[in-house]
Amino acid sequence: MPRGKNTNVYLSCKDCKMQNYKTRINKKTITGKLESKKYCGKCNKHVAHVSGSEIKHSSS
Ligand SMILES: [Zn+2]
Repeated sequence: MPRGKNTNVYLSCKDCKMQNYKTRINKKTITGKLESKKYCGKCNKHVAHVSGSEIKHSSS
């Protein structure tokens, strides 16, 4: 995997707060919260998902 400045974050459903997706953001280019409409299996519909907590890797 290439090393970069990208950070892995969870995308959480705005309705139920479930962390359904993971995505990569570049903190230099994205300052605010990332928001995108995705399918939530719990809500059983498309809901806006917002970027939340960082995914920390235990390796190294
Ligand atoms: Zn949901």
